Amino acid sequence: MGMPGVGKGTQAAMLSEALGAPHVSTGDILRQAVASGSPCGRRARSYMESGELVPDDLVEDLVVERLGRPDARAGFILDGFPRSLEQVGLLDQILVRLGQALDRVFLLTTSPTEVVRRLGGRRICPRCDSVYHVDNQPPRSPGVCDRCGSALAQRADDAEAVVRGRLEVYASQTLPIVERYRERGILREIDGTGEPRDVAARLRAGAGGG
Ligand code: AMP
Repeated sequence: MGMPGVGKGTQAAMLSEALGAPHVSTGDILRQAVASGSPCGRRARSYMESGELVPDDLVEDLVVERLGRPDARAGFILDGFPRSLEQVGLLDQILVRLGQALDRVFLLTTSPTEVVRRLGGRRICPRCDSVYHVDNQPPRSPGVCDRCGSALAQRADDAEAVVRGRLEVYASQTLPIVERYRERGILREIDGTGEPRDVAARLRAGAGGG
């Protein structure tokens, strides 16, 4: 969990590689659905472009489908879900059906000024979902994905006006769930400032304990 641009996707991808568990990002799944023009993508598009949360039933179907796949049986890393108190309830139900439980919830923190800077320079690969930053994490060849060679793009919702709205949505709808997970004793707050590898080290150090 954490504000847009705090580094959830980057950290989840690193953790996924380290643990061999799939990285399940609802944002990535939704962007792929929009790009493919599927019925689900057509429904999600306007919400995403304006920085609003897409309806719960749509996200729930996508998450159920993804977590039901064989590669998620031994565990998974969720990124961008749950994002509201209602979705915490949905996830609880999904996990009961799957016979799984959340081990940890990581809250990455940084300043709003830093996230605005990070989002302004963020570039993504529309094909393989790799994430770059023009200054902090540039691709080897400008504008080209290191991993698959596709042309990099800026996310439409990283435009400044949309970012402000996304930060408001985060504060009003997502932040309340932090307390829910804190009460359950599984929340770990991680300082998300600095280099991705330093944040990853803090995350691994914070993963222990009961
Ligand atoms: P993200 O890549 O996580 O920043 O998500 C990008 C956009 O996808 C969000 O601004 C929402 O419009 C939508 N989205 C992603 N995850 C969810 C979710 N769990 N619930 C509702 N909308 C979501």
